[in-house]
Amino acid sequence: MSTNCLFCKIVSGEIPAKIVHRDNGIIAIEDVNPQAPVHLLVLPERHVANIAEHTFKGSADEITSLMETAAALGAQNAGGFRLVVNTGTDGGQTVDHLHVHVLAGRQMNWPPG
Ligand code: 5GP
Ligand code: ZN
Repeated sequence: MSTNCLFCKIVSGEIPAKIVHRDNGIIAIEDVNPQAPVHLLVLPERHVANIAEHTFKGSADEITSLMETAAALGAQNAGGFRLVVNTGTDGGQTVDHLHVHVLAGRQMNWPPG
């Protein structure tokens, strides 16, 4: 756990969140400021700052569970869905704990803003 990390505090229960799934070291929560009718955040319980900081080697199970969970939650929406991993300042990342956005329930735009 990273002591000043918002999502670590959600994982530990210190800050409340609507948890929609928890298994295999992965947790999925509802985004507090949804940008679509469905907006979930899927993250490893373990603190990893972002996808660029992830080592992958030795953590293949974690990445598999992360993406498997995100895809399964997205697939609950018959019309399709979008997965987003904002990374770093230019990537629009505001919480430095790796998370996958699951967006669904409306037509998505491209290119993103
Ligand atoms: P990022 O901008 O890092 O890609 O995504 C961070 C997301 O976390 C944003 O969509 C934001 O709405 C969400 N968020 C920020 N604070 C909280 C919170 O306290 N609880 C929940 N559930 N989501 C949060
Ligand atoms: Zn964290």
